[in-house]
This record gives sequence, C-alpha cells and structure tokens, in this order.
Amino acid sequence: MKKVHNFNAGPCVLPKPAIEAAIAALQDFKGTGMSIIEISHRTKEWESVMNECRSLWKELLNIPDNYEVIFLGGGASLQFLYVAMNLLENKAGYLETGVWAKKALKEAKGLGNAICIASSADKTYSYIPKDYVIPEDLDYFHITTNNTIYGTEIKYDMDCPVNLVADMSSDIMSRPVDVSKYALIYGGAQKNVGPAGVIFAIVRKDILGKVTRHLPTMLDYRTHIDGESMFNTPPVFPIFVMTETLKWVKSMGGVEAMNKINQEKADLLYGEIDRNPLFVGTAAKEDRSIMNVCFVMAPGYESLQDEFMAFAKERGMVGIKGHRSVGGFRASIYNACPKESVEALVECMQEFEKLHK
Ligand SMILES: *Cc1c(COP(=O)(O)O)cnc(C)c1O
Repeated sequence: MKKVHNFNAGPCVLPKPAIEAAIAALQDFKGTGMSIIEISHRTKEWESVMNECRSLWKELLNIPDNYEVIFLGGGASLQFLYVAMNLLENKAGYLETGVWAKKALKEAKGLGNAICIASSADKTYSYIPKDYVIPEDLDYFHITTNNTIYGTEIKYDMDCPVNLVADMSSDIMSRPVDVSKYALIYGGAQKNVGPAGVIFAIVRKDILGKVTRHLPTMLDYRTHIDGESMFNTPPVFPIFVMTETLKWVKSMGGVEAMNKINQEKADLLYGEIDRNPLFVGTAAKEDRSIMNVCFVMAPGYESLQDEFMAFAKERGMVGIKGHRSVGGFRASIYNACPKESVEALVECMQEFEKLHK
C-alpha cells in the first residue's frame, strides 16, 4: 500500500487497529459467518458492540450518571437543528467562532429567538472572542470548541451561568473534558472518533422535556435515549469502527495521554511555522488549535504557494490545502495522525526553505 501522510480535515486518518478490525468484521462479524453489514441489529452480537461503545464513551470521558450517550445519523449539521428543537424555548445565545458556529446559529434562528453573543468574523475567525457576557436569561449558550476551518480552539471547560451546549466535532477525545460543565455535547464522528455516518450526543437528562413546541419523534432526543440509540436502525458499521477507535484511545492511555501526544505534535508544527521565514500561522497564538493547524506563505513568499503544495505532495503529504474559504494550508493532526507524519511535514518545510532562502 502506498505510504502517505494523511492530514485530511475529516473524514480523516483513523487508527490502523480500527481499520484492521473493520476489515475483519466486514468478512466475518464475531464468528457469525456474516459480514457486519449483513447482520441484524437486533442480535446479541450487535448489542454487545453498542454496549461496549457506550461504556467506552462513559469511561474515557468520565461521564457522570445523570447523562446519556446516544448515537445517530444525520451528521453534526442535523444536530444544529436538534439542539434548537429540543432546547430553545425563549432565547438562545451563540458564540460565533467560525463557519460551523454560524451554521448552528442559523438553524436556531429558524426556530426562534437565537442571538449572537460575540463573533470573531471581523478578523476572519482567527481568534476566540473573550470580552463578552453571557446573559442569564438564555435557555442555553452554544459554543463550537474547535474551529476546524480556521484553526482556533477553546481549550478549557468554561464556567457558564446557563446550560452550556458544545459542538465538539473536531476535538472530542483530544483532551480530558469536565462533562459536568456542559448540558449537551455533540459532534460528528468523522474528525476524531470514527468514520462519517454517525454522531455522538452526550445529554444531561434534566434539560429535556422543557420546550412547548411539538417535537417530531425522530428529532426528540428522548426517543433515542429511551430506545438506547436503536429506535430505528442505527448506522451499524460507523458505530463499529467508532468502538474500535475508542478501544485504541483507551489502549494509548486514554484522553490524558492523547492530549499529551497531541500537544507535542502541535508544538512541533507551530514551532516550525514560527521559526521558518517562509511560513506564517493565521490563528491568534493563544487560541491556536491543537487539531487543525492553519498557515500561509509569509509576506514576500506568497508566489511560492502552489510550488510548496506540489513539493509536499511529492513527499507524500495529503490534505494540506486550506479550506476553500481561507486558502493557504491546513494540517489536521487529529488523535490518529502519527507524530512521524508531523515530523515528515516539518522536514518538508525545512527542505523547501533551503531551496528558497
Ligand atoms: C465537520 C464539522 C461539522 C459538520 O459535520 P457534518 O457531520 O458533516 O454535518 C460541524 N461542526 C464542526 C465543528 C465540524 O468540524
């Protein structure tokens, strides 16, 4: 198989053992003589996967007992609607730190009174707003902890006077999280915990059942809590791969260990961006994401952008093109991205510097 360094933003690199387990299960799921994509989800073999998945979530993130973890289809983008449907009665506040945050706010606005509390749109979402006050009359305050496109991140669990809701699509399991500070945490699996096709939602049960609007059955979190994520057919294969990915996280030492490695990888790459005169980082230093590292050619070297892209590609770098709305480069260095890939990218930047200085 061709050797590449995969920096895709999502779907993205997954742990090798998870891929291998997926291949084996596609051929023969737990000795049933059937593929994982041929089995009924109403079997004890499948239920054991579902239970293992749930308990790994609870264990790895130390989730308190008054929370439920559910898995659904529809992507994180459909969760933007779920959140507002299930929680917005009078007023909701959103922290607009990027494109995903803006999309989440838009969905809520379609259902009721949702307001932007603070935004960093004035500087192309290159920082996290800090001087804002969260009104105490909000039903909830929504944040996007990692800004996948612009490379900024809220790396701590904030104190919030109202229910705190977080889209953690692109940094879940990258660090320890104090779940008790949140009312709801959700995200798509395809950035850090599995393949596309499934979302996770960690819901504090007491926040539900407070809105007066009619909730369609499928859009009511309680349906899926009661049905243990099997009210209808669950996305069996993505959940299987997610389970294997979490087993790998556990084998690596859990989220504390992941955080340590992620920090090392990020320091290595940001260190090179700051040292190398050809490149410059785009996110405010104090808000830099340890998951998505965004950079551009430094002033005076802009004309070398395409050449560096080709140079890196030739050396096996995949997926380092910045999002179409920002340009430049973005290296996504999620949990499963090995340190050696980051080292290879750094080396590539250093070689390129030698050619052009
Ligand atoms: C990718 C992403 C989404 C959208 O996920 P889908 O599953 O494609 O809908 C939402 N929020 C964040 C932070 C993301 O990175």
